[in-house]
Amino acid sequence: MYVKAVKPFSDRHWSQAETLAPADARRVQDEALREQIAYLAARSAFYRAKFAEHGVDPTAIRTVEDLDGLPFTEKHELRDSLVSSPPLGAHVAAADQEIVQIQASSGTTGSPSYVGLTASDITTWCEMGARALYANGFRPGDRLLHAFGMSKGFVGGLPLVQLAQYMGIVDIPIGAEAGVERLLRVQADQRPGLVAGTPYFLTYLAEKAPTVVGREARDLGVRAVSVGGEPGGGLTSVRENLESLWGATVREMLGGTDIGCLYWGECEAVDGMHFLSPDLMVAELIDPVTGARVEPVAGAEGELVYTALRRQASPLLRFRTRDHVVVTGTDCACGRTGFTLRCVGRTDDMLIVRGINLFPSAVKDLVLQLRPEVTGELRIIAEFAGHVTQKPLPLVVEHAADLDPARHDEVRRRVEDQIKSALNVRTVVELVPEGALDRPDHVKVALVQRHREGTPR
Ligand SMILES: [Zn+2]
Repeated sequence: MYVKAVKPFSDRHWSQAETLAPADARRVQDEALREQIAYLAARSAFYRAKFAEHGVDPTAIRTVEDLDGLPFTEKHELRDSLVSSPPLGAHVAAADQEIVQIQASSGTTGSPSYVGLTASDITTWCEMGARALYANGFRPGDRLLHAFGMSKGFVGGLPLVQLAQYMGIVDIPIGAEAGVERLLRVQADQRPGLVAGTPYFLTYLAEKAPTVVGREARDLGVRAVSVGGEPGGGLTSVRENLESLWGATVREMLGGTDIGCLYWGECEAVDGMHFLSPDLMVAELIDPVTGARVEPVAGAEGELVYTALRRQASPLLRFRTRDHVVVTGTDCACGRTGFTLRCVGRTDDMLIVRGINLFPSAVKDLVLQLRPEVTGELRIIAEFAGHVTQKPLPLVVEHAADLDPARHDEVRRRVEDQIKSALNVRTVVELVPEGALDRPDHVKVALVQRHREGTPR
């Protein structure tokens, strides 16, 4: 498998599409949307049924504005579709012989969800991802230490390899499952200038460098780090720590399995990830409770909803991602015209504590700011059903190994006060010694624990 490399548009932007004036971007998007809707009506049994059920006339959908009010596509509908019409569901829209690759995602209930790709879809995924990684500072001719998981069929594996090749980047597909020692050994031997992985795993990897290879991570030749797969990279404290550990630029990217591999990328302004592909997808923001559309102006927040454009095998219309984001800006000095955002968490991860919306990543950010008295590792103990509680939220926080026991009460209260003043949420903090909590593995850190298991008193 080798994906032929293509050339970037300029030394600043991978594609001209990233720099289109808003009216031009909208025109390109509307045109691609009309084609995609006609394709869905002709080739997707799932959407034909959905249009009929909701009385939607597909020929009346002419612009992105016309999407407002159309039914969403929910993850559970895709799961049902996959179960009732294997292998790729009633929403498959390409013939069997056109499909050349299948990726899996983690799914919502443990059983994987599947998407198919035609050869053209692979190119589309590569093109969207190249724009994001180019914004992150990745360049043709670079070499990349691949520290996302390579297995399980996730998009951080093979699709990322294909995307690197499309950019003319040499991927070294070691994968997070190989473990810290192997990854660091390869980094020290090969000295690739790029590293990609989840922010907390790459923090852990860098911290282990002196023990494993006898050198600081910043002396291992890394120039640019790209992080994604969980929200941490958007937190100033996490980013600054990563930059200092690796001695490299650290920028965020965001994607998923349902629309592409990755398609949001942060530029040198480091103020959130740009929307980059008006020609290949539509990204809407909605209020997760009412479903009403939210204008993507600075400060606006909501859930991301995607419509794939120019997608053949598993196209989706108004797919609800459950990714909760905050818009950080609409005009950036880098010349990219798409708005920027940060992902603050999954809508499903949001807790409501005495009426206050709380994302676990926000708590993590505050605890990290209290280093070195604490390590930054923590668990939120959510021993209640669902997402809503009226009680103070129990937190287990690791204190530094050398913290004087006489100071435990003071540090505990500082954590509680910091969270109360910044987030208006009351917590009850229990301190545990450094090393008591599991470190991030290659997938994600579960900040929320439903039971108080395995935490020493
Ligand atoms: Zn920018």
